Amino acid sequence: MTDRKGNGMLRLLLVVTFIVTTSAQSAQDPGFHPSEEVTTLGEAEARDGGTDLEFRYHDHEQLTRYLRAVSARYPALTALYSIGKSVQGRDLWVMVISASPYEHMLGKPDVKYVANIHGNEAVGRELLLHLIQHLVTSYDSDSYIKWLLDNTRIHLMPSMNPDGFAISKEGQCDTIHGRHNARRYDLNRNFPDYFKANTKQPQPETEAVKEWISKIQFTLSGSLHGGALVASYPFDNTPSARICRSSVLCSVFQSYAHSPSIAPDDDVFRHLSLVYSNNHAKMSRGVSCKSGSPRFEHGITNGAAWYPLTGGMQDYNYLWHGCMEITLEISCCKYPPAHELPKYWQDNKQSMIKYLAEAHRGAHGFVMDENGNPVERAAVRVKGRDVAYHTTRYGEFWRILLPGTYRVEVTAEGYLPQDVEFIVIDSHPTLLNVTLHSAKGYVPSLPASRKKYRPNRIRSSSTSTSTTTTAAATTSDDGGWKFPED
Ligand SMILES: [Zn+2]
Repeated sequence: MTDRKGNGMLRLLLVVTFIVTTSAQSAQDPGFHPSEEVTTLGEAEARDGGTDLEFRYHDHEQLTRYLRAVSARYPALTALYSIGKSVQGRDLWVMVISASPYEHMLGKPDVKYVANIHGNEAVGRELLLHLIQHLVTSYDSDSYIKWLLDNTRIHLMPSMNPDGFAISKEGQCDTIHGRHNARRYDLNRNFPDYFKANTKQPQPETEAVKEWISKIQFTLSGSLHGGALVASYPFDNTPSARICRSSVLCSVFQSYAHSPSIAPDDDVFRHLSLVYSNNHAKMSRGVSCKSGSPRFEHGITNGAAWYPLTGGMQDYNYLWHGCMEITLEISCCKYPPAHELPKYWQDNKQSMIKYLAEAHRGAHGFVMDENGNPVERAAVRVKGRDVAYHTTRYGEFWRILLPGTYRVEVTAEGYLPQDVEFIVIDSHPTLLNVTLHSAKGYVPSLPASRKKYRPNRIRSSSTSTSTTTTAAATTSDDGGWKFPED
């Protein structure tokens, strides 16, 4: 990837920081530090061959040992950190896999998978361990994996609900035993909700995830579940749930109507879901898991069209943090026998990798001021898609979009709003750098719009209240590399 004007010095500083901090074993992701202890313990285990990974279920201690061993054996490709602890004090581990595991790569996306949010949905937990294994052992031999890790930081959380997993039983396909956390809360109903006030008491696991995704700007995410075979995309909740929240009639309506709740980025979410489904061995066939359960055309569904829910993680990721998350239901049986795990890995391996590469689709770039300084927390809104994505402290943003012509409005406190038209093509991402001009000395005819997403409000893309400014953005491809084929 070519360097951008004005970013050379910042990038150089980051490289220097990276070299220093790598040797000191401290991560640059604010608040999440791989500890000395983790590395030291891991080294001993790596010598004992602790990085071998069998197809069996790993309890929390075995999982911890494995992650430590891998982080010690592959220090140039991995970093292990904990984002907090479960109710019963188990670490919520995250393993970063990247050519730059300790340091965010300027202009390159961070992505994630979170598994086992429902403690008894166990397949995703093991698949993430196998994904770790596959990525670290393929980096030198597989050019696609090398490209992915050279250009992406992949954060993998094998278990968001280790307490629930601890009481779950192998072979139980349909029960809810182990689904909840240790205080009996469903963690996928425990996030703030746009459509309906969520009165559930926030749980430590959810609070940890909320803090994590507020500190790292993730572009793309998948939440791994079990009990069905489908890729389900936002919205999970629906405006109608807000209108009649306590009415018996409403609950009946919601149980049977199953109206889709369409997100502004519906086309993108459908595409992302199809990438997973079409690369999966079976998902796109849309065969129902058992008689009486639904079949999903092409193996994808709008979340609310399946069933609406309040407090889910995917709507929160999208509306609060501009991270496109979908829910991946990867096994009809929630906790199948361990001997079936090789089959699940084979079925999902290609999907899991290809899905993450989608973070490189669309437009990305930097928002800078007239002096080339990054503008943090600038709101980037694509016209007709009224969800604000915000820039990082380096002024970066990522916007996954399908091929087409778009207009983006960039606003920030103290700056004149900026409108820019740009084109997205299929084969590689569009680099879109935007320069904002200080509002000092200008009296805009109307204040810059800083509206939150309002699903019921139709915004006209042809009328703009922004002060007209000279477009200072450049639309170009990255020049150096292309979205790889296979
Ligand atoms: Zn689930």
